[in-house]
Amino acid sequence: MELPMINTNYHTHTYRCKHGEGDIADYCRAAIDNGIKIIAFTDHTPTPDNWHNEVRMNLDELDGYCANIDQARIDFPELTIIKGLECEYRTEVLDFYRDTLIGEYGIEMLVGAVHFLPYKGGSTGLLGKPIPAEALETYTQIAIDTINSKLFSFFAHPDVFASAYRSWDENAINASRKILSAAQEADTVLEINGYGVLKGEIDTPEGLRWRYPLENFWKLASEYDIEVVVNSDTHYPEKITGGMQECLDIAHKYGLKLADMQARLG
Ligand SMILES: [Zn+2]
Ligand SMILES: [Zn+2]
Repeated sequence: MELPMINTNYHTHTYRCKHGEGDIADYCRAAIDNGIKIIAFTDHTPTPDNWHNEVRMNLDELDGYCANIDQARIDFPELTIIKGLECEYRTEVLDFYRDTLIGEYGIEMLVGAVHFLPYKGGSTGLLGKPIPAEALETYTQIAIDTINSKLFSFFAHPDVFASAYRSWDENAINASRKILSAAQEADTVLEINGYGVLKGEIDTPEGLRWRYPLENFWKLASEYDIEVVVNSDTHYPEKITGGMQECLDIAHKYGLKLADMQARLG
């Protein structure tokens, strides 16, 4: 076993999101095998309106998700386990996040992320086909709203836009600066996300690179007073630390400050 480079992982999924495998206990065993001491479960939240239900758990699965986390705390006392969910900022479900997820279900940590954009009267994903500059502007605005809401313990893969907007041009630089400024203002932690490393490289005007993390984004981040967290965002127990070393290398390369998430979570 290789020594872990970092012993926390605040972003993991389960089979319930319909694009992952394994359940809570599988990830706990993998965490222990890989030297992880603190693990947060942050599966894609259900919503009352079943928005993009094809990539998130159903509302009636939330009880089982929480119960299995509670059980894991008994079965794996050597781990600190955090009960979280990954959410998209949408004004129509913010009350549900606050009152139901945090209030009723005792969810301890919400992660903010943008995976879909309203586009041409419909909705477009960020991992598929390239998007034009106007869609990048939409992404940026939702990212800023997510950050400014202060509802989320960190903003996941802020640079995920680079998967669909592939040039590092003025538009990308402006979008990045707006997101970084907002994070600095709101003191919201930004995540360097290892899952992008596992997705392989894509062709861009500047050559082959990962979809994310986008190195130019994190280089720019070094100009801002922000804190970062390195997570795997794994959807497979056997990839529990996937991409995290590469993300940590980026943080070190650009002198980015790692957030003390436990202190922040209180
Ligand atoms: Zn996912
Ligand atoms: Zn995720």
